[in-house]
Amino acid sequence: MSDSLWLREAPAVTPPSTWPDRVDVAVIGGGVAGVATALHLAERNVHVALLEAGAIASRASGRNDGQLLLGLGEHYHRIHGQFGSERAPLLWDFLRDNHTALRSCLAAGDIDCDFAQMGGLRLAETPHEWTELEEAAAVLAREQRPHELVPASALDQWLPLGHEFHGALHLPEEAVLQPARLVRGLARIASSSGASLHEDAAVARVTGEAGDFTIELADGRTLRAAVVVHCTSTLGRELDPSGLLARTVFPFRGQVIATDPLPIELASRFPPYAMSSNFCYEYFRMHRGRFVVGGMRWSVPGEEQGTLDDSVVNPTITQNLRDYVRKHFPALDGHDFPHAWTGIMAGTPDGLPLVGPLPGSAGQFALLAFNGYGLSFAFLAGRCLAELVVDGQSPHPAMPLFQPRRFADAALGS
Ligand SMILES: Cc1cc2nc3c(=O)[nH]c(=O)nc-3n(C[C@H](O)[C@H](O)[C@H](O)COP(=O)(O)OP(=O)(O)OC[C@H]3O[C@@H](n4cnc5c(N)ncnc54)[C@H](O)[C@@H]3O)c2cc1C
Repeated sequence: MSDSLWLREAPAVTPPSTWPDRVDVAVIGGGVAGVATALHLAERNVHVALLEAGAIASRASGRNDGQLLLGLGEHYHRIHGQFGSERAPLLWDFLRDNHTALRSCLAAGDIDCDFAQMGGLRLAETPHEWTELEEAAAVLAREQRPHELVPASALDQWLPLGHEFHGALHLPEEAVLQPARLVRGLARIASSSGASLHEDAAVARVTGEAGDFTIELADGRTLRAAVVVHCTSTLGRELDPSGLLARTVFPFRGQVIATDPLPIELASRFPPYAMSSNFCYEYFRMHRGRFVVGGMRWSVPGEEQGTLDDSVVNPTITQNLRDYVRKHFPALDGHDFPHAWTGIMAGTPDGLPLVGPLPGSAGQFALLAFNGYGLSFAFLAGRCLAELVVDGQSPHPAMPLFQPRRFADAALGS
């Protein structure tokens, strides 16, 4: 297993001392989605247990690039193009609200995850991408959303060591953090609010009906729960009795490489932004003096779709990421990238996650498939899911966009 840098730096979660035979809600999956859901349910005094097959945050949530992004990582005019002028602002607002809510929780819970909100820099890889950034900026300006367009001539003030970029868009509400420390910090808060979080608890089967489900673990233990929430990304699709997850959610793999800490005089010349280029396909940031960069999925046949294996890296992608660094950051020549890892993400046909009741499976809910942006989505989505479970509805205006039912309706042709 090629463990991420983040996981090596994150303290383990303290296990609960007892196994609850029966709870109100069982959350399956201990990534950012499951932990956020358990936390918000526990804060509403719901008796909740989380069951995680491995360690908390050991899959995508502890293996990503730690960028809190806006707009699904896409340039904003493209979001308008894809979702229309009514829904695009709802999506943007949802992510912005996620960051605001998460920031408050980090401060209130004293979670140390190197959170730094200095904004994000979307760099133009080509002159064409610069024209698209200008279009995105025009839409952002029209909606009075904070941003700053940075022409190529001013880039050396923002990214002095960057080469061959054609301008950038700065989004001041974006941020970076250490993702494994974030999720395990949230797990600590969830535990102290009353949730019981169980690692090495792989779920094999869910049987029963709303109000009385039996959750069977691979090691023979069982747990009974009135409600089940699936937070398994693309890794537990078979647990959904309706088959919707198996039909709708698909896996793809991302890869990241990182240097050791750079000499201080070099590291200090890189800004602390969430950075990306090429329509967010390549992304990079600094972490404690290291340069961390990911992407290049598109550069290999099959684009890393269909695999669930995050124990290996793709050497061609490693090479292509190094070439990207060589082209854009010649100051890093001669610095090795001894750390490399992969993580499995979950996609959906429309690029939006599933947040809500699973159609045809009363009492079962899903919170998964963030299409590569779950870190930016899941804290607020977990709160909304808790509202759906407890109140039967969530007031956030973007929530109708994420209903799992949209895919069942599509399958029925309605
Ligand atoms: C290389 C890379 C870079 C990324 N960069 C960013 C970024 O910068 N910003 C951003 O917002 N997002 C980013 N992402 C995406 C983000 O990491 C994911 O969207 C997010 O972590 C998904 O969280 P999750 O909880 O849904 O899934 P996961 O973290 O995968 O958690 C699902 C959990 O379910 C558990 N599970 C599965 N089956 C079972 C079972 N049967 N029983 C018990 N447990 C089970 C798994 O063990 C796993 O821990 C990146 C992802 C990758 C891989």
